[in-house]
Amino acid sequence: MILELQHIDKTYLQGKMEVPVLRDISLSVEEGEYVAIMGPSGSGKTTLMNIIGCLDLPTAGTYSLAGERVIGSSESKLSELRLHSIGFVFQSFHLLPRQSALENVALPLLYAGVPRKARRERAVRALERVGLGERVDFKPNQLSGGQCQRVAIARAIVNNPKILLADEPTGALDSQSGRQIMELFQTLNEEGVTIVMITHDSDVANHAKRVLHIRDGRFAEQPASGQTEVMA
Ligand code: ADP
Ligand code: MG
Repeated sequence: MILELQHIDKTYLQGKMEVPVLRDISLSVEEGEYVAIMGPSGSGKTTLMNIIGCLDLPTAGTYSLAGERVIGSSESKLSELRLHSIGFVFQSFHLLPRQSALENVALPLLYAGVPRKARRERAVRALERVGLGERVDFKPNQLSGGQCQRVAIARAIVNNPKILLADEPTGALDSQSGRQIMELFQTLNEEGVTIVMITHDSDVANHAKRVLHIRDGRFAEQPASGQTEVMA
């Protein structure tokens, strides 16, 4: 199992009041799966993504990522997990505006200590994978929103992460660019990339092979691990 969360709770303190945001969330994802987590605004999706992405820790529960126990790990272990095991895709791309597509994509390789020539080669290959081989020297303001998101996806996969985590990846895009991003996710998944995608949009969620519904911080259905829910 690539990802295994058991009985995860997350409670925020608002002044002296405890605000429960996630309650008893259990989720198992196997290598090669394509899972969507769908729910309305405020249901806890981003909170859950931050926990899955090791950007935040739960209040209770257990979590293992690629066989590593996440909770109780040191900050340096967590940043290593983020760097090597997870690729992040955000609604608003999070690209560095003054850097070219190539430099943006190469950044995780720089952090990973990959030598310069190999960084360039791997970043070009990742950009080719997302169909932007002709745009490597373009800066974000010279690219469309859909192209920016493809640069962000290239950056997310350049380190060959165990899992691609996407939070509302089409949320800032027009419907045609959104469809292209969904086609790209489909292709990457067919090539073996494990995807966990968060969305409030059922049309987007239905591209995944398994859809889980979150409401008020709880999963509505919790199919047994490995079981596939077929959506109409
Ligand atoms: P979604 O991504 O599904 O819209 P979020 O995970 O962002 O939902 O937020 C879920 C709930 O948790 C919301 O009610 C939000 O106000 C609350 N929340 C999120 N982050 C914090 C925080 N840092 N402190 C207090 N409450 C928070
Ligand atoms: Mg959110």
